[in-house]
Order: sequence, then C-alpha cells, then structure tokens
Amino acid sequence: MEMAMVRECEVGDCSYNWEHRCHAFAITIGDDVHPMCDTFCRSSGKGGTSEAIAGVGACKVSGCSHNNHLECECSEISVGYRGEEIDCMNFESR
Ligand code: SF4
Ligand code: SF4
Repeated sequence: MEMAMVRECEVGDCSYNWEHRCHAFAITIGDDVHPMCDTFCRSSGKGGTSEAIAGVGACKVSGCSHNNHLECECSEISVGYRGEEIDCMNFESR
C-alpha cells in the first residue's frame, strides 16, 4: 500500500500551505466521524519544507469507503473547505 499524496490544498491560511500545496511531510485526517485536516495550523511562520509534498500518514475516519484499518487507500486526495470545516474532499461515506 502506497501513502496517499495530498495533490492540492486550497487552505491558504494554513502554515503548511505554499501555493496550494501542502508541504508537511505527512498529515492526519479526521476524528472518528469528520474528515477534517487534523494537521491544519496557523502560526506566525511557514511550516514544512519546500521539497516536501505531504502524504496522508493516518486517517481516523473509519466510516469513509476509502479507509482500510485507519489508513487511506486513495492514490491522492485534495483538501479544501466544506462549509466552515477544512476537509478531505475525497471522503465518501460507506
Ligand atoms: S492539507 Fe492540512 S496541513 Fe496541509 S496545507 Fe492543507 S490544511 Fe494545512
Ligand atoms: S479519502 Fe477517506 S480514507 Fe482517505 S483521507 Fe479522505 S476521509 Fe480518509
């Protein structure tokens, strides 16, 4: 199983976001129910490194049809706004 890559992220005010890409090494998605980006943060400086393109290190949303033992089986995902929440846009309920 390959780690799902974060293809794009539209959350420009997250510290890990540089030009619509996530530059953390890996992110965590979700609590038990909601597919939000648990790695989102705002700080005064930028996070991550310019070379890194994030993968999905863990996903806690067992109710997503792409979730297998709390890992994501997609080859890539995107992250964006769903209402007020910052979510994995590839979430699909089982
Ligand atoms: S995927 Fe999450 S951690 Fe990465 S830039 Fe977007 S909101 Fe931030
Ligand atoms: S597609 Fe589903 S399993 Fe993959 S990160 Fe998004 S919510 Fe988690």
